[in-house]
Amino acid sequence: MTTTATTFAEVPLLEVRGLRTQFNTRAGVLPVVDGVSFTLGRGKVLGLVGESGSGKSVTGFSIMGLVDAPGKVVGGEVLFKGQDLTQMQPSALRQLQGDRIAMIFQDPMATLNPVLRVDTQMVEAVRAHRKVSHTQAWNHARDTLGLMGIASPEDRLRAYPHQLSGGMRQRVAIAIAMLHGPDLIIADEPTTALDVTIQAQILSEVQKLVRERGTSLVWISHDLSVVAGLADEIAVMYAGRIVEHGSVDDVLDHPQHPYTQGLIGSLP
Ligand code: ADP
Ligand code: MG
Repeated sequence: MTTTATTFAEVPLLEVRGLRTQFNTRAGVLPVVDGVSFTLGRGKVLGLVGESGSGKSVTGFSIMGLVDAPGKVVGGEVLFKGQDLTQMQPSALRQLQGDRIAMIFQDPMATLNPVLRVDTQMVEAVRAHRKVSHTQAWNHARDTLGLMGIASPEDRLRAYPHQLSGGMRQRVAIAIAMLHGPDLIIADEPTTALDVTIQAQILSEVQKLVRERGTSLVWISHDLSVVAGLADEIAVMYAGRIVEHGSVDDVLDHPQHPYTQGLIGSLP
């Protein structure tokens, strides 16, 4: 008789199986995420690409348990280290997310509080999860901003969000997501609204940081060229489904699906 023992290392960090999310609209039930499955290993970066409206954001929100009415996750599993997030109590899910999973949004003000100085927000974020002094939390915030390639982080910490540029605000929001050293970050087009140079800088900073820390990352983008330089693997989403998933080289060199072939054909 053979036994197959599953060791810790074999459990993927994130396994999404047959995820289905619907929206109830006046026109009827809309299957926005329609059977999405993928596996993400520890320290891996997955680029989730697809045209606007293909269901990328709703996939991210579904994984995070952030879908609200008129939307609803109606099927599938989201296994984080083997634990199904769709079955967790909201309070336990929030706790786990605060500790181990973070989301970065297109609008940094979804993360930042406009009426609090950056240091107040970052120190609070650190101390919500770690028993450290104010000074230790402040130093940790400064160091994390520094790791994001931010020059004179002390000055940024003393600023209010509106005193920072759009790119700087997004860097701060990303740094907040990284503060606790989460195992998984889901980034929903956080650089899309920024100009190309700033976008490239932030991508390389994020890449450096996740590689150093071994963080797994799902980077959502409508732009294949953005994720091609950042990701290990690419999943292409079309009309609520993943129509193609493979290594960056496989997807770019041997696209199987006509939609992906079209995407690649349109690359500069
Ligand atoms: P993407 O991020 O790929 O651009 P989304 O995941 O935001 O696309 O949305 C996919 C589809 O889900 C949209 O085209 C829309 O039809 C539907 N959808 C998203 N949010 C809502 C909502 N709040 N109410 C109704 N339909 C929605
Ligand atoms: Mg979106």
